[in-house]
Amino acid sequence: MIRFYDTMAREKREFIPGDPKRINLYVCGPTVYNRAHIGNARPAVIFDTLARLLRHTYGSDSVVHAANVTDIEDKIMAAAAAENVPIDVITERYSRFYFDDLAALGVPRPDIVPLATQTIPEMVAMIERLIAAGHAYAAEGHVLFNVPSWPDYGRLSRRPMDEMIAGARVDVAPYKRSPADFVLWKPSTDDQPGWDSPWGRGRPGWHIECSAMIEAHLGETIDIHGGGLDLEFPHHENEVAQSSGSHGGAPLARYWLHNGMVDMGAEKMSKSVGNVVRVNELLDAGHRGEVLRLALLSAQYRQPLEWSDGLVAQSKATLDRLYRAVGDAEAGDADQGVVGALSDDLNTPLALSRLGAIDDPAVLRGSAGLLGLLGGSADDWFRGEGDAADIETRILERTEAKGRRDFAAADRIRDELKAEGVLLEDGPGGTTWRRE
Ligand SMILES: [Zn+2]
Repeated sequence: MIRFYDTMAREKREFIPGDPKRINLYVCGPTVYNRAHIGNARPAVIFDTLARLLRHTYGSDSVVHAANVTDIEDKIMAAAAAENVPIDVITERYSRFYFDDLAALGVPRPDIVPLATQTIPEMVAMIERLIAAGHAYAAEGHVLFNVPSWPDYGRLSRRPMDEMIAGARVDVAPYKRSPADFVLWKPSTDDQPGWDSPWGRGRPGWHIECSAMIEAHLGETIDIHGGGLDLEFPHHENEVAQSSGSHGGAPLARYWLHNGMVDMGAEKMSKSVGNVVRVNELLDAGHRGEVLRLALLSAQYRQPLEWSDGLVAQSKATLDRLYRAVGDAEAGDADQGVVGALSDDLNTPLALSRLGAIDDPAVLRGSAGLLGLLGGSADDWFRGEGDAADIETRILERTEAKGRRDFAAADRIRDELKAEGVLLEDGPGGTTWRRE
């Protein structure tokens, strides 16, 4: 039996899919204008692990995993303007980077990856239905969701209506009937990207995107809706209002799962603070993707995860030990203790500790696969030691030394590498290396 903590019910509930042969999982994806930081990678790794558990339990073809890519948004438009390029130059570049970074963490592309710009007609149709049902209204080129028309608003995040209205006062605009009303559609000026609509040329608000994509690709009520805790309000609250409001009250999801945030020390990870650790930076520094994946799974997904160099080092040591134990064994049946831990609200710390106690290498490999770990051979794992990853780390240290004008340290690193037969070449794109 699988049990998940359902945010809507505020308790652990037995997981009963609508159709065990087609389990729908939707996870809110990235807005693509920048490289992914480790906080963006956490939900991707968690919900990939969840999909692995569901496939193990219900069969390899049982899960439809969808995650959107937001490819129209004001931050994307700002990034495109800064480079003086069309928005698709930005969105294609950063969505490619996003999936490359996730692949390094053992996360495959979801089964369905809808793009906002390819779902505009579905969004317009949903907005029209919301207007017809009295849940939305057009005003000055905008269309707004009429929050007071949806009495259940606030049920997911357990916020009282008056508190939400007070919180929305900063966002007040003359065309809003209630301060809590949120944008479904907004006008575009001639130089901004836009699409023709019954309300004039414009572009969608962010929230309507997920509701329209879920309806188009997965149906009215899905099994699991996932995302970061920071999306619970207002994004997921708005998704519920839009989807249920345009589907005669049908629930959007049977289970709502929210992952905790990644903390850098005491700071919450977000794009607005400077202490961002990007996945590609960690990989460039020589940390292997599997090490980062294990680090991201080291805390239960609902808990905050404290990110530190110590956590990364500890994860590397754990994988060294596991690879020594697994050797070149083929994957056997998964250990029931590991399956049981994952089935109890994806308790990855317990699953990892049980993994460490498995003696049989075949069972170890079969069980680790549920967590997306130990996919390669031990030979390959240890061959990488002290090799390319180490060289990259020392190049990064040299770049940092140069950055703080410590040229003696930078020269020393270059000389040490030369003594090992590794030549560095500094170019406009950074430092490359080759063997002598
Ligand atoms: Zn969403």
